[in-house]
Amino acid sequence: MVLTRREFVQTGVQASVLGFSVWKIPGLAELIAAQPLQRVAEVPLIWIATGSCTGCSVSLLNSASPSIQEALLGEILPGKHLSLGFHTTLMASAGEPAMEAMRRVVAENPGAFFLLVDGATATAADGFYCSIGETPEGIPISGYSLVRDLAGDAAAVLAIGTCSSFGGIPAAHPNPTGCVSVGTLLEREGVSTPVVNIPGCPPHPDWIVGTVATVLLGGVEALNPDEHGRPAAFFGPLIHDNCPYRGHYDRGDFAEVFGEHGCLLKLGCKGPATYADCPLRKWNNGTSWCIEAGHPCIGCTEPDFPYEASLFEVITPADLTPPAVYPPASAQPAAKGISPGTAAVVGGAVGAAAVGAAVGAAKLAKSAAPPEDVEG
Ligand code: SF4
Ligand code: SF4
Repeated sequence: MVLTRREFVQTGVQASVLGFSVWKIPGLAELIAAQPLQRVAEVPLIWIATGSCTGCSVSLLNSASPSIQEALLGEILPGKHLSLGFHTTLMASAGEPAMEAMRRVVAENPGAFFLLVDGATATAADGFYCSIGETPEGIPISGYSLVRDLAGDAAAVLAIGTCSSFGGIPAAHPNPTGCVSVGTLLEREGVSTPVVNIPGCPPHPDWIVGTVATVLLGGVEALNPDEHGRPAAFFGPLIHDNCPYRGHYDRGDFAEVFGEHGCLLKLGCKGPATYADCPLRKWNNGTSWCIEAGHPCIGCTEPDFPYEASLFEVITPADLTPPAVYPPASAQPAAKGISPGTAAVVGGAVGAAAVGAAVGAAKLAKSAAPPEDVEG
């Protein structure tokens, strides 16, 4: 779909219904109307919140590059403008006008809009632990049926956050509301619309905006999703491989209490079993991230989150990917007992690297197993 300038201005008026105050600036619409004709492809979005805490929406609002204003009011990609037609938290309208706006997006863009869902979906009690709007007869519409029906008409579904992707906290034991992920819901209902999982509690704003932009550029396939449906660009790296405490881990130098310096494994860090680019991207516009702030990674992007036992249960690291200079963790050190100092004397750069690798392997073999006093 493309927009004429006139249609774009009309969209702006509709955006004011969503509460975007920039459109209320006197004369702005006329100024835009006076600009040369530009054609912009409109990308309709519907954002549904089911069993959620709204944290995913708050995280999206923290987007820095692009800012949320740029993402929603400008062109997210050259010639492509996001049109957020429904978002219960952000839109100013409520009740029937809001539901009518949603229905209009579906009717005008069959099979062409994107459905974003944050929150797990309740299935118990016919799904009425979560209802969104009413039928013309005044009957509450369950979140379950709304997600199912909208997903059936959408081009693709983006599950925003761990609750939507895997069930997360609402689906934690004993799960009295019978919460399920979007993927599980659609599988049960036989809806084959592609689902992309963007987990995180909450997800980083870059993961949301970057995924949307990638889908618009190359479709869902361009995300190269992993076995859990997560885009490889954001959820490919293992936290543990990029952690500033990795050296401490390799030396067996573990913090015993919060605030102590050292690897946080014994305090419950899930970094060795969690895939996300947090150490590289950092949070709050690149300011810091969980481990840098002194707290273990709690594995918030993983399907098992928030874990049966405890967020701080100590895990046994497995399937480690050692740094490139190390041989596999299972390899036996070739020169057991040699010191890095001796290595420096014995060889040149290549030789030293080889012996250093052997020393590293010995340390890794020692530390790959959890410390003796750690419960596995
Ligand atoms: S266990 Fe956690 S704190 Fe320790 S190196 Fe791995 S990711 Fe970093
Ligand atoms: S470091 Fe771990 S707990 Fe923190 S946001 Fe990243 S994946 Fe989630």
